Amino acid sequence: MALERTFSIIKPDATRRNLTGKIVAKFEEAGLRVVAQKRIHLTMEQAGEFYSVHKERPFFGELCEFMASAPIVAQVLEGEGAIAKNREVMGATNPADAAAGTIRAEFAESVGENSVHGSDAPETAATEIAYFFSGLELVG
Ligand code: UDP
Ligand code: MG
Repeated sequence: MALERTFSIIKPDATRRNLTGKIVAKFEEAGLRVVAQKRIHLTMEQAGEFYSVHKERPFFGELCEFMASAPIVAQVLEGEGAIAKNREVMGATNPADAAAGTIRAEFAESVGENSVHGSDAPETAATEIAYFFSGLELVG
């Protein structure tokens, strides 16, 4: 398996409940390394651009409002097979379906307020990393 980088967000429901450390620990325990990280507060417009792939979905407005409701932690995770591994550690979108021990099983509040985002493919990982970080901010 190749060394990969993926994009991750700790979402507002988790920053609000002071869970960033516990969530980062899950990634680190799985062998993923944080190679870039920042805490930011998205505007509705920025949230909408990030999630533009979902703009026709019925939950889009609510999703943007949620993502702009409190700070997020944007991060780049690196490791062997990092894209799939991150998705595995996150668990299923709906916490009711998430496997035991995953971040969403332990921390998510609902299908919308589900604590983390993770890129789903190499192309989206590259686009999402570039949306949030400059090359200078990827420090390894
Ligand atoms: N979402 C939602 N309702 C749904 C499905 C998704 O509010 O029925 C939100 C949820 O926050 C999810 C995000 O939209 O994480 C993006 O959806 P996606 O299907 O890409 O799930 P993910 O890749 O985050 O598991
Ligand atoms: Mg997705």
